[in-house]
Amino acid sequence: MGILRHYEKLLPLTYKTPRVNLEEGSTPLIELPRVGARLGIRLFGKFEGCNPSGSFKDRGMVLAVAKALEEGKRAVICASTGNTSASAAAYAASVGIPCFVLLPAGKVALGKLAQALMYGAKVIAVKGNFDRALELAREGAERTGCAMVNSVNPYRLIGQRSGAWEICDFLGRAPDIHAIPVGNAGNISAYWAGYNVYADMGKIKALPKMYGFQAEGAAPLVTNKPCPNPETIATAIRIGNPVSAHLAKAAVKESGGEFNSVTDQEILEAQKLLASEGGVFAEPASCAPLAGLMKLKRENRLPENILVTMILTGNGLKDPDTAMTQVGSPIEIDDTPEALMKVLCQN
Ligand SMILES: *Cc1c(COP(=O)(O)O)cnc(C)c1O
Repeated sequence: MGILRHYEKLLPLTYKTPRVNLEEGSTPLIELPRVGARLGIRLFGKFEGCNPSGSFKDRGMVLAVAKALEEGKRAVICASTGNTSASAAAYAASVGIPCFVLLPAGKVALGKLAQALMYGAKVIAVKGNFDRALELAREGAERTGCAMVNSVNPYRLIGQRSGAWEICDFLGRAPDIHAIPVGNAGNISAYWAGYNVYADMGKIKALPKMYGFQAEGAAPLVTNKPCPNPETIATAIRIGNPVSAHLAKAAVKESGGEFNSVTDQEILEAQKLLASEGGVFAEPASCAPLAGLMKLKRENRLPENILVTMILTGNGLKDPDTAMTQVGSPIEIDDTPEALMKVLCQN
């Protein structure tokens, strides 16, 4: 039914807020027994790649666009590493308003770029990194009165709380550990706020520990200082100066969790493992939590038999180029049964 109807009472809606809806949310929380067994835990992945634009960004975007319309805004603008632009462009298209997106030139996964263009956004490639594109987008919003729909927009984070509510509704409790990739640090903050809303309502008895994972080349929350030249194959978390750093730090500290970083190689291995032993294809950034859990396991810092949820933030189909660097090519054969049998009977 979409986030705005499903969680109507928990969201800041008025009778004037248009009920924008692309049937976002209600994504599957998939148990991953083979991968969980490797880690000695009960492991679930929330597959946010099932959202309409293929990432969790839709949860907050639906509310941000609805509120922009309610406030009389007639266009939206954002800077993006890819998924925010795909989501903003989709919702803007669905309600019929223009969308301007600023992307770091040459650093956006192909699927995400194709999406923004297909949905009809005006796509602007900035010769600079994400952090710079964000500064420009803010300036553009200020000068034109367009609604800024980056996660500095408070409604984005409020809509994203719905992910935590769905997890608790499904499990009947919160996980022991909530593992999540961290880029601009909005999502980890939103989940923590969401769990706290449910705890205050008495719907859950205990809160999870929040574990935020970054890529080693873009790990400002691990090193505790901005990273001027962030670099990682996980482009969705290639961010050096997270806007919601203060909220994310508070979430980790209050919950008794931690920030940690993983290498690009570890991310790619986790991506392959998740697909080949979990049956779920998630984009590289989404696999930082699994890489991180594997690292904690190696360091004997992961308790046994606990319940862990990972947020698989985006769909693997968005970034086929990175995936193809990790796998071989198809086996080509002549069109004869003999040629086929040769392959089928190879050990
Ligand atoms: C946006 C995004 C992230 C990072 O989320 P933040 O709220 O910026 O920390 C992680 N993974 C994917 C796939 C994303 O699109």
